[in-house]
Amino acid sequence: MNEITDMTDLLKSRNSWVFDLDGTLTLPMHDFAFIRRELAIPDGSDILEHLATLLPEEAALRHLRLSDIERELAVCAVAAPGASGLLALLDSTGARLGILTRNSRDIALLTLDAIGVRHYFDDNHVIGREEVSPKPDPAGILHLLSQWQTESDDVVMVGDYLFDLQAGRAAGAITIHVARPDCLRWPDVSDIIVDTLGELTEMLNTGHDSSHTTVS
Ligand SMILES: [Mg+2]
Repeated sequence: MNEITDMTDLLKSRNSWVFDLDGTLTLPMHDFAFIRRELAIPDGSDILEHLATLLPEEAALRHLRLSDIERELAVCAVAAPGASGLLALLDSTGARLGILTRNSRDIALLTLDAIGVRHYFDDNHVIGREEVSPKPDPAGILHLLSQWQTESDDVVMVGDYLFDLQAGRAAGAITIHVARPDCLRWPDVSDIIVDTLGELTEMLNTGHDSSHTTVS
């Protein structure tokens, strides 16, 4: 069996799809440098990890400010090219659809509303940082699999960042990196790399995609 030519068929056989939100279904909207400045977090630090090191009162205040910033960003979110078409196609095939974000569920739901795709997702299948340990921990994917009563060999994880791919790999998912041309790539944890979600839709529609990169 040729793993590369059979990847599209393997993808089509999977019925549980988990998406990152920011930068994957939306255009990138988090200005992490701005957020770090606003919350007095050192450059290069992981925002959630840093907040977890603070005293509870201080952490709570900064989480409130973080939520305010995220809410402002959410209502202005713009769908990534091809997002709606891909979700419509998957929905038409009866696929289960979930979101796994390091944002909160409330903000994620606002964002899904803003980009016009909330109706594809059951609220319980939108998993945020309050529900599970954040990516790269695979807990969110495993949580969805448990809700869907399915196994890891049925799942696909789609994201634009290393943590999405690491979480997917650790959960046993097929990992798809939606990589902008000027961005980093992580071939070690990416089964498929596409430039846009439209490219992914084309793969699923035709089964004869020639432009995507498959990493075995
Ligand atoms: Mg992202």
